[in-house]
Amino acid sequence: VSDVQVPVLIVGGGGCGLSASIFLSDLGVQSLCVERHETTSHLPKAHYLNQRTMEILREHGVAGDVYERGTPFEQMMVTGWYTSMGGEGPVDRKLIWAMDAFGGRDLRAVYEADSPVLSGNLPQIRLEPLLREHAERRAPGMVRYGHEVASFEQDSDGVTARVVDTASGEEYTVRAQYVVAADGGRTFGPALGIEMQGPTGLMDMVSTHFAADLSPYLDDEETLIRFFVNPDGLGSWGSGAIVAMGPDQWGTRSEEWVLHFMVMPDDPERFDEDAVVPRIRRLLKLPELEVTVHRVSHWILDAIVADRYRSGRILLAGDAAHRHPPTTGLGLNTAIQDAHNLAWKLAAVTGGHAAAALLDSYEAERRPVGARNAEWALMTWTNHLVIDAGLGMIPGAPPEAHLATFMALFADTADGATRRARLAEVIATQRMEFQAHDIEIGFVYENGAVVPDGTPAPPRDPMGHEHTPSTRPGARLAHAWLQRGGERVSTLDLVGRGGFTLLAREGGEPWTAAAQVLAGELGLPLSALRIGEGCELSDPSGRWASLVDTQADGALLVRPDGHVGWRARTLPADPAGALRDALATILPRAVGAATGA
Ligand SMILES: Cc1cc2nc3c(=O)[nH]c(=O)nc-3n(C[C@H](O)[C@H](O)[C@H](O)COP(=O)(O)OP(=O)(O)OC[C@H]3O[C@@H](n4cnc5c(N)ncnc54)[C@H](O)[C@@H]3O)c2cc1C
Repeated sequence: VSDVQVPVLIVGGGGCGLSASIFLSDLGVQSLCVERHETTSHLPKAHYLNQRTMEILREHGVAGDVYERGTPFEQMMVTGWYTSMGGEGPVDRKLIWAMDAFGGRDLRAVYEADSPVLSGNLPQIRLEPLLREHAERRAPGMVRYGHEVASFEQDSDGVTARVVDTASGEEYTVRAQYVVAADGGRTFGPALGIEMQGPTGLMDMVSTHFAADLSPYLDDEETLIRFFVNPDGLGSWGSGAIVAMGPDQWGTRSEEWVLHFMVMPDDPERFDEDAVVPRIRRLLKLPELEVTVHRVSHWILDAIVADRYRSGRILLAGDAAHRHPPTTGLGLNTAIQDAHNLAWKLAAVTGGHAAAALLDSYEAERRPVGARNAEWALMTWTNHLVIDAGLGMIPGAPPEAHLATFMALFADTADGATRRARLAEVIATQRMEFQAHDIEIGFVYENGAVVPDGTPAPPRDPMGHEHTPSTRPGARLAHAWLQRGGERVSTLDLVGRGGFTLLAREGGEPWTAAAQVLAGELGLPLSALRIGEGCELSDPSGRWASLVDTQADGALLVRPDGHVGWRARTLPADPAGALRDALATILPRAVGAATGA
């Protein structure tokens, strides 16, 4: 293998690194992605892909494959809590609670109004090969598994990495202008002395990927995640949750499953395959269940965020920058969204459209999101213990005492009704995990590559659910369905793929003229579109007019990642000058670039 010179070296072929490779290729930036393992991950890991991630994957032509291979939406709309799947005891086989989840059932109208796509679900063990296919198709020979970065050093012009082909032992060097450290935190962060801040070693999550036919015991076709809590069990986390894994059938007929349960990190029991099968049978109360275990894995949970996302020419993304419990499904989603934020900035800098200072905005924008998501995941994880309390479970109490508690809960008595009402209140708080709509799509960049317009931030639901669509600088562009000729397009379809987009309204002719002048002058990918009566795009429902929050002669400048960079609510005296100033703030210009100035 010969030495390589490439604008961007991506270290890690997990969800983050592969996404970065796809996004950069689509923006015309050459990259080399190296992954030390021979293959994508054997562990099922994350599975839920929230709406923002699906919007990004749609922009890059990957979403269709995810929906095709993943869980049909109708089979991922509910999270349920149960006592058991089998058994003949007085409290066996009972549904304790069912909660609408992931934008399903009663949530659907709101989630559909806010995005052109619904959420998706494809376990990482199947998503990674799909991302790898897409990455390799775009960059043949430049996505290398079984290649490990053994050492690296950076100077003022670039980074040199020594890469080992682990099969042959051959070594080569890679010289890159920038490195995306999507290495899960295993190599670059520790070597650079980056400190991970927050609690560590919270618990050991034991995940068992297994095949079994559970269909005879299930009739809840819409449910994706099932928690089991029963008098013999250990409470929510000790007992665990079962997630449908497909791959060919989903819902109750899923061929594969994952059981996740928690133990203390120093638990002396190893929970290998021999220990896990009896545990699954006991938990589900299906003593005869045929179980084929594919793999048992351990994951020590942290809730940590890197103190810096950037060290010179090395940028940390995904689990390298933040690691948190799986609740709310923010690990993989935040990782893909980090890559999306970074890709257009790397394209602008390596393409000479912006100075390297643009890359400072990556940390300014993404670290607050990482910190909030880590905190949210920690909260929604610990809140499961509150559900145990809502059920009346007392830590350490014997099964007989818990049996009496469960019988009282299900009793057709006034006391039973009281217990159920109390439980309903308590368990409803877990909507923070399963209905976190605003956490998922509402992140806003207050500082970074944006020009604030001085308006107050719209309210944000402290419970993370209600989302207020916005066009304020920093916000993800609000979604509305528009009409272009005979075609229905989302506002989000108008932006992205490396370019800036100016969205004007009926009175926007001066803006389109200004954008044309500037695109030529600056050599920037910048397009301008008008939405409204008599324009190339119409707004048949009037939703865009209700959201846009500018006058008919105002405009929005949307960045390549779909976040609003600048907003002019009315037409200034010199629109080209105002636009030029805004672009200069968002894109600090590279020395010697064609500024026209
Ligand atoms: C056992 C387990 C279970 C999980 N379960 C869930 C879950 O149920 N829900 C959830 O939301 N999240 C879960 N997660 C977290 C989720 O998988 C991560 O958030 C996600 O994988 C992050 O993607 P990433 O690409 O940033 O990092 P990773 O997936 O960790 O990928 C980093 C890659 O970098 C490679 N690498 C490291 N150093 C080098 C080097 N020097 N040279 C080359 N390659 C290198 C590694 O081999 C690895 O493949 C789980 C994680 C684990 C480990």
